[in-house]
Amino acid sequence: MLRIYPEEYRQFQCIASACRHSCCVGWEIVVDEQTAKRYQQAEGDFAKTVRGALAHTDDGTVFRMEQGRCAMLQKDGLCRIIREWGDSSLCEICREHPRFHNRFPGVWESGLGLCCEEAARLTLTRQAPLRLCAEETDDLQSERPDEKTTAVLHLRGAALALLQNRSMPLFHRLSLLLALGTDAQLCLEREDIGALLCLCNAYGDEAHHGELWQMLSARVPSDRDPAWPVRRMALYLSRLPALETAWQTDMIKLLRGCPRRLMLFGRRAEIFYEQLACALLFRYFSADCLNERDALGACRFTVLAVLLCLSLEMRLSPRGTGGNAARLDIVRRFSAEVEYQPQALAHLRTMIWEEPAFETSALLRALV
Ligand code: SF4
Repeated sequence: MLRIYPEEYRQFQCIASACRHSCCVGWEIVVDEQTAKRYQQAEGDFAKTVRGALAHTDDGTVFRMEQGRCAMLQKDGLCRIIREWGDSSLCEICREHPRFHNRFPGVWESGLGLCCEEAARLTLTRQAPLRLCAEETDDLQSERPDEKTTAVLHLRGAALALLQNRSMPLFHRLSLLLALGTDAQLCLEREDIGALLCLCNAYGDEAHHGELWQMLSARVPSDRDPAWPVRRMALYLSRLPALETAWQTDMIKLLRGCPRRLMLFGRRAEIFYEQLACALLFRYFSADCLNERDALGACRFTVLAVLLCLSLEMRLSPRGTGGNAARLDIVRRFSAEVEYQPQALAHLRTMIWEEPAFETSALLRALV
């Protein structure tokens, strides 16, 4: 079994009481069955306190919320269960968050979700390009990635290399990512693994990127509004239930005045947004390709997320004075409101294929 994870994955440590946007506030925490059983069987006064903090709902056993905070969260921002019993007594969600895992034949991938402020800081403020670690695990040694999984992982490697070609403006790299996603989609639909591997050579080699960009940019229609995709995305997001009303308010602000000249504005934070694009591609590209035969959707989602976060930064801080602190907050909110809201994510992933403003040509217009 091959284990793949970004370099910073192992460095992550919850900052607990120093966290300004704790995951124990505002989210309902569902307790897995095994842990719920353990809590029911535990003895002692504290076990009674834990059981008193549980509620049974349609979602299963959850921690009760008191004024929007998990009932086990102390005033100082620390968890009572960790204090009394230690980390190993946490339920699965609390133990794992913000880590995510994707499993494919012979491969187990793990990463850090960007809705956690510490995970976002580690992931997005790194100057060096994203580096993935790969190691063989002792368990299930005999299981190896199959041919398709191997091809998709290679192609994602090429896509990441493309996004990390810092000799080109980020918007040009994102445009080429859409071209890669379009070509990969055709290969997946035809189940043509050989052609998928050929794409690795075509897009993975830095020497070809300039030429590919020239060919692509000549085909981009100039008669469309570059802000159209972000405006439509803001419209959808403004209509969906949100964790914070401020998010809906910001979406309405974008809808009413969507910034232009994003490319110029984004130049001051190209590495930050490159890291965002790489983190999203790492999380979604292989999973979507292998589970849903959807390469282009993952690329469109990545591009839309960068455009939305950048537009919001420009709208809220037109001179870019907020720096990385403001950017991190925007990405954290995007992740919490979109990536970690099943309804919003599912809606957006469907619209990516149905909404004309999210077609590749419209996204290219926003980037070129
Ligand atoms: S959001 Fe991240 S840093 Fe904050 S409490 Fe949760 S896991 Fe810890």
